[in-house]
Amino acid sequence: MEMTGFEGARVRVRLAPSPTGFVHIGNVLVALVDAAIARKYGGTFVIRIEDTDQKRFFEGAEQLIYDSLAWLGIEWHEGPDRGGPFAPYRQSERLPRYHGVAEQLVDQGDAYRCWCSPERLDGMRKAQQAHRLPPKYDRMCLGKSETERQAFGGYTERSVIRLRMPDTGHTTFSDPIRGEMSFENALLDDRVLLKSDGFPTYNLAVVVDDHDMKITHAIRGEEWLPSTPAHLRVYVALGWKPPVIAHTPLLLNADRGKISKRKHPWANIGWFQDQGFLPEAVLNYLGNLIAFVPDTENPQHGVARELFGFSEISEHFELGSIGPSGKVVDLDRLDWLNGQYIRRMTLDELARRVGPFMIAAGLDIGNPIFMGALALEQERLKRLSEAPAVLSIFFKEEVYPAEMLVPKGVAPDDARRMLDGAISVCESVAASGDWSAGSLEVPFRDLAISLDLTTGKQRGQLFGVVRVASTGRTATPPLFDTMAVLGGDTVVRRLAHARVLLAGLGA
Ligand code: GLU
Repeated sequence: MEMTGFEGARVRVRLAPSPTGFVHIGNVLVALVDAAIARKYGGTFVIRIEDTDQKRFFEGAEQLIYDSLAWLGIEWHEGPDRGGPFAPYRQSERLPRYHGVAEQLVDQGDAYRCWCSPERLDGMRKAQQAHRLPPKYDRMCLGKSETERQAFGGYTERSVIRLRMPDTGHTTFSDPIRGEMSFENALLDDRVLLKSDGFPTYNLAVVVDDHDMKITHAIRGEEWLPSTPAHLRVYVALGWKPPVIAHTPLLLNADRGKISKRKHPWANIGWFQDQGFLPEAVLNYLGNLIAFVPDTENPQHGVARELFGFSEISEHFELGSIGPSGKVVDLDRLDWLNGQYIRRMTLDELARRVGPFMIAAGLDIGNPIFMGALALEQERLKRLSEAPAVLSIFFKEEVYPAEMLVPKGVAPDDARRMLDGAISVCESVAASGDWSAGSLEVPFRDLAISLDLTTGKQRGQLFGVVRVASTGRTATPPLFDTMAVLGGDTVVRRLAHARVLLAGLGA
C-alpha cells in the first residue's frame, strides 16, 4: 500500500467543514473515514473550521458539526473546541498567515493581482458560456501594474490575488481511491487565492493549513476533485510536499442520482436524529458503505457481518478499497438495521431513548403502562419517532367511526352480538382478579364456539371487532397481550363505549 502512505510519518487527518448550514451526510462519511484511519494507524484526527466565506457564514453551524459527530460517537483530537499544537483551528483566526503566503506567491511570480470588476468578470463568463467555452479567467491583469491596468475597462480598486497556472503540461497525482489522475494545465482556471475582503479562498487556505497542521492525508468528497490541481500548483510553488489526497465517492439517492437538499431531507444528518434513528445504526450503515467487515462465524464464505460498531469499521477499513463509484443510501435497509438495534436493547435502554419522542408528543412516560406497552412494540418498532403514534392507544382513547367496528362481510347485528359476548367475557375475567393474556384466551375460544364462529376467518372477525373496540385500531401487537397491558378496567370501559357506537348503526 505504498500509495496510501500510512507508514512512516505519524498519520494526521482532518475534517475541514465550512460552517454554512446543516451538517451534510457526505461530510459525516468523510469524518468517519478520518476517524477510522486515525484509530487504525494510531494517528490524529483534526477538525478545522473553514469559515472564510463571510457571506455564507451560519451562526451555530460549527456547534452543529461537533454535536453531530458526538452524537454518532465519532471522536476527534484537535480542533477549535479542543485546542491543540496548531491552534487556532478556525481559518478566520489565521488571516495574516494567508496574506503572507499570497504575497510570497505574487513576489515569486506564481500569483498575480487582478483588478477586474465583478461586472467585467460576469460579462466574460457569459460570453464564454455563449460560446460554450470552459469558464476561465482571460488574464487581462496578468503582467500589468495597477497603473497599466487602469488604462483598460472594467477596473476596480478592490483587487484579488490569482494563482497563475502553467500554460502547458499536466498536473497529475495519485488518489488512493481513484488511481492516477491527470489534468491538462491549459484548461485550468487561474483561481482566486485571496479575495478583495482580505479573506483567503478555500483554495489557498486549505493548502496553507494542511501544510502547517502537518496533515498527511487530506480526505474529502468527490465534489472537490476539480480544485485539487490548483492546490497541487500551490504546493509546488511553495516547495511544500502535498499530503496524500483522496476523494471519497458521492452519496446517491435510491435512483442513483445526486442528493438534493430539497428533495432528500436526509442530506442533513440531523434528520436521522429527528426521525429516531439510533446513532449506532447510522454509524453501522455508513460503515457498511466504506468497509467490508467479515462475519467471523462465516469467514471462509466472504460474508459481510450485519451489525458492527466503530472498532470493527476502523479495524477493517482500507482507503484503497472504498472504490470511486457513488454509494446509494438505502433508507429501507437503514430502517431494518435500526429495528435490529432496537430489538437488541434492554427495555430500560429503549425507554430512555424513546422518552424524548414521547414527551414531545405529550405522552406521559411516568404512566405505569409505558413500559408494558413499549415491551409489546419493541419487536416492531423501526424508528423511535414512530413510538408515540403506535403507543398512544395505551395512553388515550382513539376517536374512530362506528363502521370500523364492523369487519368486512359481517352484518352490524352480528358485530353487536360479538361485542356483547366479548364484554361479558372481559367483565368476568376482570372480576376474577386474574387479567392476563393467558386468562383471556380460553374464555374467548369458548365465546367463539358459543357464537358458532367455527372457521378461522370467523374467529378472525370476532378478534377484529374486539381489537378495534379495545384500541381504536385495526392493527396492533398480539391482541390478548395488548388487552393485558391495557388492563381490565380500561378494556371493559372501551368495549362498552364501542357498544354504544355500534348501537347507532343500522341492522
Ligand atoms: N471546506 C471544504 C468543505 O466544506 C473542505 C474540503 C476539503 O476537505 O478539502 O467540505
